[in-house]
Amino acid sequence: MRKYLPLVLAFLLCACQPQGLVSTATPAQPLPTATTTPSPPPLPTVTLTPLPTRSSTPYPTFEVCSPLEDETLQSLPLILTNPLVIPPSFGQDTGHHGVDFAYYQRGDRMSIEGIEIYAIMAGKTVLTLDDDIPYGYAVIIETPLSDLPEAVQQVLLTGYLPVPKDPNYRLSCPEVPVPALTGELSVYHLYAHMEARSALNRGDPIACGDKLGTVGNTGYSSNPHLHLETRLGPSGADFKTMAHYESTNTTEQIGNYCLWRMSGYYQLFDPFILFDSVD
Ligand SMILES: [Zn+2]
Repeated sequence: MRKYLPLVLAFLLCACQPQGLVSTATPAQPLPTATTTPSPPPLPTVTLTPLPTRSSTPYPTFEVCSPLEDETLQSLPLILTNPLVIPPSFGQDTGHHGVDFAYYQRGDRMSIEGIEIYAIMAGKTVLTLDDDIPYGYAVIIETPLSDLPEAVQQVLLTGYLPVPKDPNYRLSCPEVPVPALTGELSVYHLYAHMEARSALNRGDPIACGDKLGTVGNTGYSSNPHLHLETRLGPSGADFKTMAHYESTNTTEQIGNYCLWRMSGYYQLFDPFILFDSVD
C-alpha cells in the first residue's frame, strides 16, 4: 500500500480540484444580471392598543377623607363642638379660628384622646410643629386649589376677600416676607393640639387618609380635641416655624403666626364645604 500512496494522493488531489481551474475550455460565465428588486423584509406586526377612555368625571382622583378614626364624613357633625362661626377680622387674633371635634364618650370609647387623626385631602406637608404655643403638636398640609372640583373651587373663591394692604395688626407682629403671589391658590389644612404627630418633614407628600398623629391636649387647649383649620391662600407657603405668646418665641415664629392667622393672605373657610362636597 505504501508504495501506491503517492499515486492515490495524486488521484485524490486531482479529483478535488475545482473543474473551472483545471479546464480552460469553458469560458467564464457572466454573473446573472438582477432584473428584480429584492423584496424588503416584512414589517413587524404592530398591535395597536386603544388609548384608555378618559373618565367622564373631571376630577376622578379628588377625595375627601374623615379626619378622625372611626368617624365618617357623615358622622362628623355629631362630634362638632365648635363650628366655624364668624371669621375674625384681618389683623386680629380674636375669636376661634377653625372648628373643633371632641367627645367624652362615644360607643366603647371613653375619650377622644389618642384616636388617630387623618389628612382630609391629599397634598404635601408644609409645616410640622412640636408642642409650640398655641398649636401644640401640629401639621399643616397644602392642597392646590386646582385639585378640587370646579364647583368647590368656585365656592371657595367666592368667599375669598381681597388681601388687605395693611392688616393693621392688633398684636406685636414683626415684618415678615409676604407670600409670592403667582396667582395660584391652595387650600391649607392645619391639625392642632395633637398628642403626638407622625414623623413627617416639610415637603413630604400626603395621601388622603394618611395618619398625621393622635388627638391630644397640647398647646393652648383645655381638653383633648382635634382643632382643624382650613384656609385658602397663595400657593407655595414656606412656613418653617410658627408660634406666639411666649417670651422665647423668635421673630420668625411670631411673623409666620401673624401671616397665617391675621394677614388676610390665608383666609379661613368652613371645612364642611369640603366634607359636604363628596357623597
Ligand atoms: Zn379649636
